[in-house]
Amino acid sequence: MSLVLHVDGERWRAHLQSVAEAHPGLVPVIKGNGYGFGLGRLARKAAWLGVDTVAVGQYDELPEVATRFDGDLLVLTPWRPFGTLAVDGLHDRVVHTLGRPEDVAGLLARQPDARFVLERMTSMRRHGLSARELWSVAELLTAHPGARLEGVALHLPLAQGSHLAEVERLVNDVVAAGLTTRTLWVSHLTDHELAGLRASYPDYTVRPRIGTDLWLGDRGALSVTATVLDVHAVERGDGFGYRARTIPKAGHLLIVSGGTAHGIGLEAPTGDASLKARVGTLARGGMDAVGFVRSPFSIDGKQRLFAEPPHMQASMLFLPAGARVPAVGDRLDVRVRYTTTAFDRVDLS
Ligand SMILES: *Cc1c(COP(=O)(O)O)cnc(C)c1O
Repeated sequence: MSLVLHVDGERWRAHLQSVAEAHPGLVPVIKGNGYGFGLGRLARKAAWLGVDTVAVGQYDELPEVATRFDGDLLVLTPWRPFGTLAVDGLHDRVVHTLGRPEDVAGLLARQPDARFVLERMTSMRRHGLSARELWSVAELLTAHPGARLEGVALHLPLAQGSHLAEVERLVNDVVAAGLTTRTLWVSHLTDHELAGLRASYPDYTVRPRIGTDLWLGDRGALSVTATVLDVHAVERGDGFGYRARTIPKAGHLLIVSGGTAHGIGLEAPTGDASLKARVGTLARGGMDAVGFVRSPFSIDGKQRLFAEPPHMQASMLFLPAGARVPAVGDRLDVRVRYTTTAFDRVDLS
């Protein structure tokens, strides 16, 4: 009845281990929808991998992860004086990220022995300190002997060409700032770039923060299925659906599990049947001649058409006459983005 993520456990675990072995100092990233697996499951897997630190996206994610993984917890979203969940009981395990000079002062005023990394701004321009701010923070820290600086963080954009020149420039700023730390927490560097960085700065410990390539790096270990919940033969002209549309040609309507609540079909038109919207969809190659939009559900290896936009937990598909008609209870393959899908269940073998 559900949208299920099937995981070939043996193959998935072997992949996780190979990534961990190839990336000394690995910091698994556990955030959002848990890359489809859920935060708790990934936290347990990180414990099984034997890493000493994981990264969560934001403070709200700490409780679910902290109860299942007992190492250190880096929070990727920078600390702010507002809206930060109390980290009661996790005081010594949480490593904050600081990206503005005023937040360094703010956090240390509240918690003089806080553990934290300083984020250096990169070409991402999301968060972080400029070179000059890094200098001033280094100076500020000399007045806070109890503060526990755990490293400098660099969040690079997804690879377009090499990051090495940029990273070397940024690390030179770190060295020049005279900070006491010798740890760099980096995101989105290739194995080649990691090796280059380690060779250039042998006295620094480099800790790669990896989510997608770890959890979702072996797609062959994963599959997603929905279930056929109902099948109705229809003739041209029959009415159907929330908007009382009529069937353009004979075939079958399939009602399958998986809808908007699961994150299915966000790209489907939202009932906007204007010419412009339809031309846009047509141009993307997603609509057939009678105005149905391609769905992520496939039958016999072919992506099938939505009869109308997905419902909350189910979708209506149109199967033209001549196609093999699946039976109620059959499973269909579904193509999803793992990071935006809420599965009803994860079947881990
Ligand atoms: C999400 C995130 C990561 C992990 O990204 P993936 O592409 O999933 O590996 C690393 N660093 C930061 C700062 C992030 O926000």
